[in-house]
This record gives sequence, C-alpha cells and structure tokens, in this order.
Amino acid sequence: MKRVIFLVDMNAFYITCEMSRRPELWTRPAAVAGDPAKRTGIILAANYPARSFGVKTAMTMGEALRLCPDLMCVPPDHAFYNEKSEAFMSRLACYSPMIEKNSIDEAWLDMTGTEHIFGTPVAAAEIIMHDLKENLSLWCSIGISDNKFLSKMASDMKKPLGITTLWHAEIPEKLWPLPVNKMWGIGEKTSAKLKSLTILTIGDLAKADLRQLTQRLGDFSVALHQKANGHDHTALTIHEEDDMKSIGRSTTLVKDVYHVEEVRNVLMSLAEDVGKRARQHRKKGNTVQIQIKFNDFTSITRQVQLPTATCYTQDLFETAYALMQVHWPVKKGVRLVGISLSHFAESQAHQMSIFDLPHNKSIYQKPDESHRKIDEVMDQIRQKYGADKIARASLLKPKEPSD
Ligand SMILES: [Mg+2]
Repeated sequence: MKRVIFLVDMNAFYITCEMSRRPELWTRPAAVAGDPAKRTGIILAANYPARSFGVKTAMTMGEALRLCPDLMCVPPDHAFYNEKSEAFMSRLACYSPMIEKNSIDEAWLDMTGTEHIFGTPVAAAEIIMHDLKENLSLWCSIGISDNKFLSKMASDMKKPLGITTLWHAEIPEKLWPLPVNKMWGIGEKTSAKLKSLTILTIGDLAKADLRQLTQRLGDFSVALHQKANGHDHTALTIHEEDDMKSIGRSTTLVKDVYHVEEVRNVLMSLAEDVGKRARQHRKKGNTVQIQIKFNDFTSITRQVQLPTATCYTQDLFETAYALMQVHWPVKKGVRLVGISLSHFAESQAHQMSIFDLPHNKSIYQKPDESHRKIDEVMDQIRQKYGADKIARASLLKPKEPSD
C-alpha cells in the first residue's frame, strides 16, 4: 500500500495563539516579542499584517518598530502556547494514531489507509485544516507525500493555509528548482560547501556525483543525496506515553519579580497545564518540584514528596506555591518559575519526607475534593470546545484598555 504522510505545520504559531484569544489582533499588525515593556528583545512570531511591513521572526524589536511603528507587541505566554500545542496534537490524534511531534507547532501524521474514512489525501488535509481553524482558531499548512522528508518540504511551499502535495512525479517541477539552502537538514555550512562544488539547487544535489560528494562532505551526504531524489525511509517515531519520567512546565516572566504573590497566577496557570497533561496521560506523581531562576542567572530547584500521588491542579498549585513561599529570595529578582511532577506510580505509598514550613506546619495540606471535580469538568469542556474556552477566575486578567 502506498504510504501517505502529512506534515501539519502551524502558521505563525505563537501570534496565532494570541489571536485566538484576542480577536482584535486579527486586523492589525501584531507580534509576540521578547519584552515589550522594555522595548527590547526579538520578534518570536509576527502575524501576516505585520509581515506585509517586512516584520520577521528573529528581528530585533527596534528594527520591527522602525518598519511598522503601529506594531502591537505581545509578551510571550509559553504555558498558553504549550496548551494550544497539546490541543492541536490531540485533535490530530482523531485522524490517525500514528503521530510524531516534530516541534511545538508541527507534527507528522501517518494517514496511510485512511482514504475510506476521510477521502483522498487532499480532501483529508482540507478536513484537518478546517477543523483546526474552526475549533482552535489555528492556521496550518499541510504537506503531503509518502515520506517524512518530502512532506516536510511540501508543507513549506504554500503558507498560510496551504495544502501541497509532493509526490515523486512532482519532484522535478516542485523540489528541484529550490535553492539548496532551502532543503530541510541543510544548514549554512553545508550549503557553503555545496556551493563550492557548484551545487546550487536541490536538483543539482540530486544529480551530483555521489563519490565526489562523500569525498567533500563525508558519509552524511549519502542521505542528503537520497533525499534530494525524494527517498527517505525514516519511520515515524511514535511518542510512547510510558517513557515519560516527568511532566514539567516553566515560564519566563515578562519582568523581574520581587514578591511571591506576583507569581501566584503564573503558578496556577503552570499547575493547570501540568495537571491537565498528567490527567491526559493518566499519570499520578508523588513528587512536586519547583524551579526558580534569579535575575543573576543562578537558579534552584526544590521538591517535596506528597503522601498520595496526584494529578490535580489544586494539589500542584498549593504545593508549588508553598514551596515557592519558603524558598523565595530575599533580595534577588526572579525571572523564571517552573513546576514539575514526577515519580509516577500507582502503588507508591510514601512516607512523607518533607520540607516543613516554619512553625512545623506541613507544606502539604489535604486538598478539598471538590477541586478534582472542577479539573474533570474543565478537561471535558476544553476537549470539546478548545483550550481557551474556559479558564479559572483567578487567571482572568482585567481587559486591557484598547489603544
Ligand atoms: Mg514549524
């Protein structure tokens, strides 16, 4: 049977995540960028209106604002992007159980044999694109071929909202004219070496003399030569949930923070994220760990064992916040905080080994059971309507005045 591999790549992922919860950003140039308050840092993702002014990823914010003075800059919210990424991966899982996540914003999907359910590969890609757009407000491009390399190359050919096939018969027309530095897996160094051999396009590479190539570039050029000819036998690496040793999330704060109360909401959002992932993977952990990175670039981790394994947001939040209070620095500012859950086991009935708070008060307090029900209900709503359709009241920010 002919293999059918999709590479689903989200367009302008971070900023599209922001647009999904702030519709006013759809019509104006906007970007997710380092530190808007200080007007420093770099552009992490620009939306399409901003791109029409020439604003690009990795550009400094100063440069971007010169090109587009009206650019609206939004600070990154990595916990939210991770949540959207997971929502997107779990929607893809409705189309095929064979998924390999390549990065936060893209994944391969083995669609072989699904034609009787979803129709032709292009029809299936249209269904997926529409699904992600309607239900998660995310845009994607989809590359279709019979292997990972060609589908990855195809996904880059038409953006945004592009569906591109790159079957073997289409290689001479679609792949070979591209400059060799556009080939996935070729960096600056390799492309400079290839240039010295007058190999300028992927087509030149495909037709190059293999002996000369290996002499100049070494054995790894054999795989490049094969890929340029459209051959890639790499199998998808399907993520095994049981391999998971810990589930963690951290986030860089928009500015240095000096008071622990100021990270309360951030911690709740991280706890929610970790808890949700743990519940999705049916994991309960005994160890809650926090990470604090200071503004002098030193960092610490501190952990506590819980008497009962948990996957509940409120348990994670309360434990992490209590640890954070104990270990909060006296003089330094904090620039990053994180939470993780580990030591997954069903039957570990641990003695409590504990950090005791001053006055011998245990750091861990038995949670109110009603919070578990809230987690369940929130998970169900998110599953059905998308990640951003529900949030805890403590996480809702007052609406910013529009400018
Ligand atoms: Mg990508």
